[in-house]
Amino acid sequence: MATRRGAIEGWVLALCTTATMAGCDELDAGRPVLDDDGLRAPAGDPRQGSGEGVITPVVFVPTDEDPGAERIAAVDAALADVWSWYDVQLGDRHLVVAPLQVVHGQRDAATYRGDRGGPDIWALGPDELRAALGASPWDNGHLVLLVGAGLSGWAGGAGNGVAGFSVLGMESLTDPARCEGNWWCTPEFWRGTAIHELGHGLTLPHSVDPSIMAFHGDWSHRALLDEPDYPEVATVRALPFTAPDTDDGGAMPTEPDPPPPDEPPSQEPSGCGEVDYAGRCDDATLVWCEDEVLRSYDCGAVGMTCGWQDDVVGNNCL
Ligand SMILES: [Zn+2]
Repeated sequence: MATRRGAIEGWVLALCTTATMAGCDELDAGRPVLDDDGLRAPAGDPRQGSGEGVITPVVFVPTDEDPGAERIAAVDAALADVWSWYDVQLGDRHLVVAPLQVVHGQRDAATYRGDRGGPDIWALGPDELRAALGASPWDNGHLVLLVGAGLSGWAGGAGNGVAGFSVLGMESLTDPARCEGNWWCTPEFWRGTAIHELGHGLTLPHSVDPSIMAFHGDWSHRALLDEPDYPEVATVRALPFTAPDTDDGGAMPTEPDPPPPDEPPSQEPSGCGEVDYAGRCDDATLVWCEDEVLRSYDCGAVGMTCGWQDDVVGNNCL
């Protein structure tokens, strides 16, 4: 179920600014173009989405790269570990994942890495992905995990709760000789990095041990936290990119009991009273109606206030 928390820019950012770099060195030092820090997700409006999201993994091939079928298959196989890892963390829910796609880029790898000083994969990728796949990672309901040939140590991700974009290079998995000497250049670190960057795409900020959001390494012994200060499991479970596990492979759970015959079905299903989607502010708490359910969110908990945004969204955390 989409929630308005996804619309709150700032909550979702993975910040490793210069001022906080001390806490990020362990994560990010040594990467040639590591851009985990400060990547921004556009604000999303959950009302434009269906509430159903899908994560699309993409092998992205710049004009001067040719990974071939074997490396693409290796990515697909390693991604199975990524999905399985989340499956364990999410209890009776799992990530909703599309089949691996291969997208050919319009520029060379150095451009996408940012070596030429211009726009890099973070800026160029969304439009190229829309042209190839029909949807951008920033369209509601879409999250793309992009594995780029030639992107080497480029890694980063961000999400807004209804959309997201996660990026990492391919070489540490498929061609360690091409990134030899870098501490992150192993297939095991590749898996940890994919899990970590996907976590950013799923709105998770950096965290503390033993979370994968604290460190990319040793992925199989790391977890998502389920603590009041780090509600990582609950955060991801609430996103439209997860669905409940079912025994029969996706059919809906049992239908609700019909109402008793002497009790006519209500013609007014809304449980929100006078509250509509534009909602209201109870001090710093945003209260609104969505899918006929009264919802609330404490903007103050993320350092924001509640107020009128515009006629489209109504009240929101500002
Ligand atoms: Zn990170």
